[in-house]
Amino acid sequence: MVKGKGVSKGIGIGHTKVLKNEEVKLTDFKVEDKENELSYFKKCLNNVIEDTREVLEKLSGTEADIMNAYLMILQDPTLTEETERLIQEDGYNAGYAAKVGFETVEEVFKNMDDEYMSARASDIEDMKNKVINKIINKAELDLSNLPEKTILVGKDLSTSDTAKLNLNSVAGIIIENGSENSHVSIMARTHEIPAIVGAKGALDSIANDMYIAINGGTGEIFLDPSQDEVAKLEKIQNELKDEKGSLAKFRNKKSITKDGYKTEVVANIGTPKDMDAVIENGAEGVGLFRSEFLYMDSDTMPTEEEQFEAYKEVLEKSEGKRVIVRTLDIGGDKDLKYLNLEKEDNPFLGYRAIRICLREPEIFKVQLRALYRASIYGKLAIMLPMISSVDELRAAKDIINEVKEELKAEKVKFDKNVKVGIMIEIPSAAIMADELAKECDFFSIGTNDLIQYTVAVERGNERISDLYTKFHPAVIRLIKMAIDGAHKSKIFCGMCGEAAADERFIPLLVGLGLDEFSMNPTKILNSRKMIRNLNHKECKKLVQEILRMSSASEIKARLEEYKDNL
Ligand code: PEP
Ligand code: MG
Repeated sequence: MVKGKGVSKGIGIGHTKVLKNEEVKLTDFKVEDKENELSYFKKCLNNVIEDTREVLEKLSGTEADIMNAYLMILQDPTLTEETERLIQEDGYNAGYAAKVGFETVEEVFKNMDDEYMSARASDIEDMKNKVINKIINKAELDLSNLPEKTILVGKDLSTSDTAKLNLNSVAGIIIENGSENSHVSIMARTHEIPAIVGAKGALDSIANDMYIAINGGTGEIFLDPSQDEVAKLEKIQNELKDEKGSLAKFRNKKSITKDGYKTEVVANIGTPKDMDAVIENGAEGVGLFRSEFLYMDSDTMPTEEEQFEAYKEVLEKSEGKRVIVRTLDIGGDKDLKYLNLEKEDNPFLGYRAIRICLREPEIFKVQLRALYRASIYGKLAIMLPMISSVDELRAAKDIINEVKEELKAEKVKFDKNVKVGIMIEIPSAAIMADELAKECDFFSIGTNDLIQYTVAVERGNERISDLYTKFHPAVIRLIKMAIDGAHKSKIFCGMCGEAAADERFIPLLVGLGLDEFSMNPTKILNSRKMIRNLNHKECKKLVQEILRMSSASEIKARLEEYKDNL
């Protein structure tokens, strides 16, 4: 049985949509104008060659070698000899001729004794699919029009693909790669879509349009489930619903400990659409609006007007509560095709987020103008991602001030008191927190990145995911430095990484004095319930105990025990 890691609770039952090269059904027919058909085939082939060249430009090392070999085969006249003959002599349509012609070559390669050459057969198949897709004008992947109750199954789901999904139709997600903190997992949790990652072999055993069920909590996948299995899963689904119902009473309650320590539980969102979940779950505001989703949801750079409308919508729906919008955080595992970012060997350590905005201020300024213009519609705060030094913070603030001056000169109304804060997600920022706090209005700790940069473990790398842990004492010390640094300058410190909603971690964070917990809207009520059940003084004692410990596994065990005994 295929199984994976459940990363978003819930039961999904439906039919699958497998995201891999689907076999295209091609019919053969004879054409009248053979010359015209032949030149159409050549044009499509040339387009594929051009696309391949474009991809090649961004590659280096072994990948570039492979792509070069690929390009050579595509340009070799023997590859297309049979296809051209089928069109020119027999008068077949280009799609069918390419299918038969390429398969003839594929067969020749398959039967070669040389192992390397016979492995090239799969390259030919890939080229065949690309050329045929061009001929029949088939778009690469369209996820906007899925039937109801679709369970997506794929090797991976890129962030730009998920940005285009019609979420109402998705009943579940199964991914062969990925981890708990991949963006697809975060997106699934926000929208309460049951999701499983690391499901090795899923693509081999799950076909398109198959009836299946998944448990996003346990990672179980049921192929063609029996009535019994469905009944059991529906029971779990109902229990989850009841659990949700019992949390409803915490909607309008304060996030305050038994002995009066006040915090705020706020929401992480990706698009204005998420505001419904924010309101429904009684969030005390928005602690992180990942604005890059506006950029990923579009094929071109969103204009100032488009961004203004999105920020205005969120602010208008926020009922006067604070909304922290994070400026563009692209790069790393989040690509923007139209930005033509160069391929880098270490994208997480490369050209991303504020580094792009500071080097390409024309992009940054459009966003800042839209934000300030929208600021009159609510309580806006702006947050800068991936700040690693005081110099970067100052450079970003200079651009912010330029934008404010421009708007003033244009007599455009905006809120002069918009707070500007930074994410603490790079160890250098945590270490320098006391200095950074003197020059900004708030912090929000991004544990998703902070962990990966502290322990040098890529956040999506499943192979070493056991090493990616918030329980590492170094991570905890950096969190403490960030909170203490903020408080020294009397600014507030929140957390918007996934750790903020972990029941095992919340008592520690309360003890450390975290002011704001920002999380998936679906986790808000449970976290508030937990905070209301804590005693701040006891949590402070727990912090002292944890700070004396040096082993991540012992810290984890102790925090689990603490949570279980509450
Ligand atoms: C983080 O790094 O913790 C964070 C909240 O940002 P993102 O997950 O979008 O990188
Ligand atoms: Mg981050």
